[in-house]
Amino acid sequence: MRYIEPIAKLIAELGKLPSVGEKTAARYAYALMEAPSEDVDALVNAIKDVREKVHFCKVCGNFTENEVCDICATRKPTTICVVKEPRDITALEKVKGYDGVYHVLHGVISPLDRVGPENIRIKELLARLDGVQEVILATNPDVEGEATAMYIARLIKPLGIKVTRIARGLPEGSVIEYADEGTLSRALSSRIEL
Ligand SMILES: [Zn+2]
Repeated sequence: MRYIEPIAKLIAELGKLPSVGEKTAARYAYALMEAPSEDVDALVNAIKDVREKVHFCKVCGNFTENEVCDICATRKPTTICVVKEPRDITALEKVKGYDGVYHVLHGVISPLDRVGPENIRIKELLARLDGVQEVILATNPDVEGEATAMYIARLIKPLGIKVTRIARGLPEGSVIEYADEGTLSRALSSRIEL
């Protein structure tokens, strides 16, 4: 199907979003063209707002509106839970009982994608271990997640800090952000020491 130029452009932009194929992008484009202009303005402003106001916490790498996120500002940093992405924190925060802080790596080691240890926030993690009693490695249970966890464990264990890995409650290859609360809760509470 051929669209006139401005519509084609909007469809192409929407199609860059995850899980949005051309059909869905076209449906969104038509919905936007038919929506009241105040709704469209609100959407445009919401997008501008997150881009301008939200950035990474300078301590843990989570999203925040401030210099330091609410979690880092209010909790004791004696336990650090290491995750791949900020959205993993959202998933883990639904699990009741965890009252430690987080560290976002913003990626995992993946030689195939040319991502080495120096390309993710491992240096920053090592720099905040003063007074830390336990580091929980909560990267996804896939090949890259396991390799990254093992790499970090090898660096931290010699420092005399307890290093644990979330348990196999998560099915192999499953992604933390999509796991349900019960599964995450079990994975976290039955974590194993490395
Ligand atoms: Zn933070």
